[in-house]
Amino acid sequence: MWNRRNLLRAGGATVAGGAAVAVLPGVSHGSTGRRRRDPWETLRGRMTGRLVLPSDEGYDLSRQSHYAMYDAVRPQAVALCETTADVQACVRFATERGIPLRVRSGGHNFAGWSVGEGLVVDLFRMKNVSVTPGGTTVHVGPGSTSIETISALEPHGLQLPTGTCPTVAPGGFLTGGGIGHQTRKFGLGSDRLVSAQVVLADGRAVRASEREHPDLFWALAGGGGGNYGIVTDFEQRPVDAPTMVFYQSMWDVDRAPEVLAAWQRWIADAPDDLGSMIALVRPPGGAAPLVAVSGGYLGAPDAADPVLAGLADLAGFPPLFSSAEPLAYGAAMRRVFQCDVLTTMQCQREGTNPDAQLPRGGFQQDAFRLFRRPLTLGEAESVVSAWAAGADDGQSRVVQAMALGGRFGRTAARDTAFWHRDAGYVLGFVSQHYAPTDAERETAAGWVRAGGAVIDPLSSGGYVNFPSTELRNWQTKYYGGNYPRLRSVKRSYDFSNVFRHPRSVGS
Ligand SMILES: Cc1cc2nc3c(=O)[nH]c(=O)nc-3n(C[C@H](O)[C@H](O)[C@H](O)COP(=O)(O)OP(=O)(O)OC[C@H]3O[C@@H](n4cnc5c(N)ncnc54)[C@H](O)[C@@H]3O)c2cc1C
Repeated sequence: MWNRRNLLRAGGATVAGGAAVAVLPGVSHGSTGRRRRDPWETLRGRMTGRLVLPSDEGYDLSRQSHYAMYDAVRPQAVALCETTADVQACVRFATERGIPLRVRSGGHNFAGWSVGEGLVVDLFRMKNVSVTPGGTTVHVGPGSTSIETISALEPHGLQLPTGTCPTVAPGGFLTGGGIGHQTRKFGLGSDRLVSAQVVLADGRAVRASEREHPDLFWALAGGGGGNYGIVTDFEQRPVDAPTMVFYQSMWDVDRAPEVLAAWQRWIADAPDDLGSMIALVRPPGGAAPLVAVSGGYLGAPDAADPVLAGLADLAGFPPLFSSAEPLAYGAAMRRVFQCDVLTTMQCQREGTNPDAQLPRGGFQQDAFRLFRRPLTLGEAESVVSAWAAGADDGQSRVVQAMALGGRFGRTAARDTAFWHRDAGYVLGFVSQHYAPTDAERETAAGWVRAGGAVIDPLSSGGYVNFPSTELRNWQTKYYGGNYPRLRSVKRSYDFSNVFRHPRSVGS
């Protein structure tokens, strides 16, 4: 995913600030007449982790998610859970008192679905990574970021698929599917799930797998986070990927339509070993736009070169620059994360530990869609025109696509909750800004809307982990023909709709 650090490298900008506002309804912190125990103290007393109230030190930090654009939202409390029992206590407390819940692990949801004004159940501290005897499965806590998981598994010689962002956590990544450079070879992140420990709406904790609570297990693997329960442990099958060739190339921006169209034909016919991403980037401040292709090749290193050369053959001209380097899996993923010169603790979102160096995201609007077929050159030209349209008003404007297909597409649409198995890639328009004015937000919205209008008729669906700012008929777009079954699972496991957000199943 094109992120803020890419942008800093490309153009540079300032940090968005968040306003602090509002007194909220809900549980009172003071006494009314007779002195009574503050209900929040009751919850606090039941938790091993920390409950942070607005009057507590660290409140502003505890409510931060990845995007500063949600800093104005002030929850009644943030529960920094450390155990499954903490999560159970939160769910019981909130349901008894009718306090709205939001569930947060890594806090990366573009649309703010893990941010709310009631109780935020935060799982970021639940970072256990452990290997079962024999190494056939791995347990990962919902808050273990991609870089933490990869680093923890490295000494065991084991690998798990992640996305391209070091700080995304499995809580949202796996429940929404989870795509990355490993998807064509190994399928979705959620395709590797063996079981999940889940706290249900009534506060019970159960293990879901193909044998126990199979419908719930089915829904949790790609049916969208924040819907059916709170996952406190993911058991996954590791992948066999000891090495990866990390490659990147830059292309003439004047030939962007040809490169985009060639990239799509290239990945459609490539071996499963190839993972790839293309980004057309217009940095803010008038810096030169660029077209970049990057990714990982997971086959034998000496087989990579002819596969990588295929893109230039299809485009009909060579890249301006290209490189490819075989690396151990962890080292290659650190390149993907742009963290090759940082420690694991440094490669974290600022504010999450004293050493963390990665800047938070600011303001973002986007329109992502899934596509069944490569775009024609004419269609690629209209995407590139929409990307290039409009004045530079301080925002970065990116068109980005990630390759799907391969093994991802060989699972049947109904076998898991992730319906769109016929998608060859996900492509979207992303506008990012650090501290936009209202007028700049409007301009950004117009640009994203115009891009969405170009790709909508060409697309076959949407990816719930890349929620679009505007998406009509989201139930079908995200979940296709699996939506009725997801609703039925929701009714069985969360009849009272405890787990809800603006695009939750059944809302
Ligand atoms: C910079 C950036 C790069 C990204 N790159 C990729 C990529 O390469 N590939 C990819 O597939 N995605 C990518 N994403 C999207 C990412 O996978 C989703 O945003 C994902 O949902 C984030 O999970 P999270 O736990 O970090 O976020 P959160 O915001 O904490 O959670 C996301 C959703 O899941 C729910 N949820 C969180 N934890 C749990 C839990 N334990 N149990 C049940 N529900 C839960 C939340 O309520 C929310 O609805 C990227 C996002 C960003 C911001």
